[in-house]
Amino acid sequence: MKHNPANNIQDLQYFGENGGVNPSISDSSTYTFLTAKAMSDTFEGNTDGCYLYSRHTSPSNLNLASALAAMENTASATVTASGMGAITPVLLQLCKTNEHIISSRTIYGGTYALLKNFFPRLAIHTSFVDITNIAAVEAAITPKTRVIYCEALSNPLLEVAPLEKLSALAKKHNLKLVVDNTFTPLSITPVHHGADVVIHSLTKFINGSSDTVGGVICGTEDFINSLKDVNDGACMLLGSTMDSMRSASILKNLRTLHLRIQKHSENALYLTNELQKLGLNVVYPGLENFKDKEVFESMLNSDFGYGGMFTLNLESLEKANALMELMQQKNIGYLAVSLGFYKTLFSAPGSSTSSEISEEEQQKMGLSNGLIRFSIGLDHDIKRTFTMIKSCLEELNIC
Ligand SMILES: *Cc1c(COP(=O)(O)O)cnc(C)c1O
Repeated sequence: MKHNPANNIQDLQYFGENGGVNPSISDSSTYTFLTAKAMSDTFEGNTDGCYLYSRHTSPSNLNLASALAAMENTASATVTASGMGAITPVLLQLCKTNEHIISSRTIYGGTYALLKNFFPRLAIHTSFVDITNIAAVEAAITPKTRVIYCEALSNPLLEVAPLEKLSALAKKHNLKLVVDNTFTPLSITPVHHGADVVIHSLTKFINGSSDTVGGVICGTEDFINSLKDVNDGACMLLGSTMDSMRSASILKNLRTLHLRIQKHSENALYLTNELQKLGLNVVYPGLENFKDKEVFESMLNSDFGYGGMFTLNLESLEKANALMELMQQKNIGYLAVSLGFYKTLFSAPGSSTSSEISEEEQQKMGLSNGLIRFSIGLDHDIKRTFTMIKSCLEELNIC
């Protein structure tokens, strides 16, 4: 099933204070009220058009949040200082002490560490499961479970969460389905497949210029307002607020996201097909032999392709490191964590971004030491890039 294109940004209309075509940046932490009553009304709720204090919300943050809500097709959204600054308040808003989370076992290393090492201090416990195995997910549900947490396309193993089935399960047991969509902005719209809350690290594809961290939470009006509540809202009280200067700059980058994702996707599809022809072990959702192809395509929006992330498994860390160092030397890309940049970025997650996960658990989930995660850049001439990668592989006797 194909869905409407998720790119609605051109339908939004913002003006700057003096008719500027870019909205003015709100360079204030606090706001005046004409009357004392308007101030107390604003403390009670979200008085339309009134701002209180920028940890709660600011005009610039609202502009970015509304563009992201339009992208994810949710009623509302709120932006945060980082992706982790979005994940933490969502889970703490939904779970209290002694409650329980079911999470995919293949998730971003920072989220894994939060759930595995930090939340037990608050007596919030997590069962890590194979999210593609619905029976295993259901078996992990207890009377204390509040949340099913997953990534639409997982970091770094590119496992696909079967959102429709997870959503049916969540509804049956009265749980919230929280989906991190950082790897597949525009390509997948999780609320179309039953997600209750959608999170992004804006640091990655959405901002796309590796110059800031940022996050967003997209959901219903009630849920987003609850996060911002002055008395018990996790965003308001934990304080992971985005700065207005940053939200203004991310909003500008968001305008080209659809073009960038198309190019990332086109480049990744070409490269992975060519690398596979060399007999290499490549995983990419656009490849014919991709394990979860059917589920992935059932959720895929038209027009944006399969995204910019793929993995290459060289079986040994030494080979992976040698290839990455050589590719950096030849300026094919940078040996760096993170993703969504105009240059190709590569890293070996087993010893970097997923090093929070113990070696034994890495093995269980199929995360090999020799796995390289690629975030493919916006290279204009991807055939030339392939030739360069191929000569690196040949120099190291990998192919
Ligand atoms: C990077 C990342 C995060 C964390 O985001 P930050 O902006 O670094 O805090 C969360 N989830 C995924 C899938 C990520 O790749």
